[in-house]
Amino acid sequence: MSAWVNKIKARGVPHVDSAPTLELSDVTVAYPAGSNGLASRIGQNVNGSHYALDEISFRIDAGRQVAIVGPNGAGKSTLFKVVVGTVKPTRGTVNVYGHDPDCHICIAYVPQRSQIDWSFPVSVEDVVMMGRVGQIGLFRWPRGHDWLAVRECLDRVRAGHLAKKQIGELSGGQQQRVFIARALAQEADLLLMDEPFSGLDVPSHDAILDILKSLRSEDVTVMVATHDLNLAADNFDLVMLLNRRLIAYGQASQVLTSANLLNAFGGMMHVVDVEDESLIIADGCCDEPLD
Ligand code: ADP
Ligand code: MG
Repeated sequence: MSAWVNKIKARGVPHVDSAPTLELSDVTVAYPAGSNGLASRIGQNVNGSHYALDEISFRIDAGRQVAIVGPNGAGKSTLFKVVVGTVKPTRGTVNVYGHDPDCHICIAYVPQRSQIDWSFPVSVEDVVMMGRVGQIGLFRWPRGHDWLAVRECLDRVRAGHLAKKQIGELSGGQQQRVFIARALAQEADLLLMDEPFSGLDVPSHDAILDILKSLRSEDVTVMVATHDLNLAADNFDLVMLLNRRLIAYGQASQVLTSANLLNAFGGMMHVVDVEDESLIIADGCCDEPLD
């Protein structure tokens, strides 16, 4: 990683050299009854689980790029919140580089678009500068080299020309690129992006995928939630298929089998056999089962 990394390592909790980027052991999440809720409202999903996440265990080694796929309500966003530390597991443990997530400033999280207040009056360069709070320290002003770093990160995602614009004025694809720039400014070692491709056109997809590819040389570990199974299979090292339980995790060819997809998507998909090939039609947009 670039020259700033030693600083962040000095300020954040030291990484345990032998530890993977991320390790979850038997993580179960039950949201409080009545809070929109699972414990109170839903019965079981297609896998018979009552929990938002149910005994999830996996590890991700440094530098791997992993796509998280599953239907709406599968727990993808909850998984990210558990990794960031904003949702605490009801049972089980989460370790990032061998420590509790709360100890780290090396995790960058880009929430789903719907969870961000785009009317908040903040410029693009300020959004990216927010990524540097860990290095600058709270209650200190950014210095010249911090603004230089912000500019460099924006240029890297080809958004330098947008620096002075309000974040809410940007297109969806530009906004995602700015959030990646913020992660770069943060010197993140683990980048989580929740449905970054939703609602974007193909050139915007490609631009984001190109930037993610460029992170490979820096050993940044990436987790991306997406509904797009083809995009997941074609662009990521590993695919995790989730529906509250971990259905499968590994190479796309072993994970995205019709049996696993039926298990994950249940009534929300059809499997049609065409000339010895199974054609999967999954409805990733809504919770309604297909007819
Ligand atoms: P996904 O991102 O895969 O669509 P989520 O993690 O958002 O899934 O949601 C998983 C389940 O947890 C859903 O049934 C959802 O309604 C529930 N849920 C998510 N957030 C909360 C919350 N804050 N309080 C209560 N239930 C929640
Ligand atoms: Mg979600």
